[in-house]
Amino acid sequence: MDNIIEIIKGDITTLKVGAIVNAANSSLMGGGGVDGAIHRAAGPQLKEYCRSLKGCQAGEAKISPSFQLKCKHIIHTVGPVWNNGTQNEEALLASAYRRSLEVAIENKIQSIAFPSISTGAYRFPFDKATLIAKNEIERFMKTNNTLQTIILVTFSESDYNQLKRIYEKPKNNYQNQ
Ligand code: ADP
Repeated sequence: MDNIIEIIKGDITTLKVGAIVNAANSSLMGGGGVDGAIHRAAGPQLKEYCRSLKGCQAGEAKISPSFQLKCKHIIHTVGPVWNNGTQNEEALLASAYRRSLEVAIENKIQSIAFPSISTGAYRFPFDKATLIAKNEIERFMKTNNTLQTIILVTFSESDYNQLKRIYEKPKNNYQNQ
């Protein structure tokens, strides 16, 4: 079966999908940005559950139930904090996407929605992060077809337009940018 990538603008907490991905911090105990929005919408049980996960390293991913959200699961991943590319950030961001997709497959999830991991408080340059995500998702889709729908969720109009522009470019290889 063919898998598809959709780009939408909106609030990831409202989506009715197999899993939404949380751009969490390594404590998994909640934070600002999308992490805060997910914890608020899922309710306090999420924090209790996350306590049992005992944190998560950058580039890794862990799964939880969704509690009060409409999606079935939450996959919590931790992206790198951008430090001018000196701390292996690109590989860690690629790993955050890859591990989230692997966890989705392990849990037989068919649709997954990602926020733009690390591009908020963690300051990863948006274009660079988008190209890394695109490369990783496309590579993953070549060998896995159980995941049918991948939704990329942008929060602002300008992020939405930028993402559209990058995905609509005919040939795009982030290593050549
Ligand atoms: P990080 O710490 O990984 O940078 P942030 O939550 O600060 O995470 O930002 C990641 C991205 O998520 C940003 O592009 C931000 O605009 C976006 N974002 C924030 N809230 C939401 C939301 N409710 N739904 C979707 N995306 C969101």
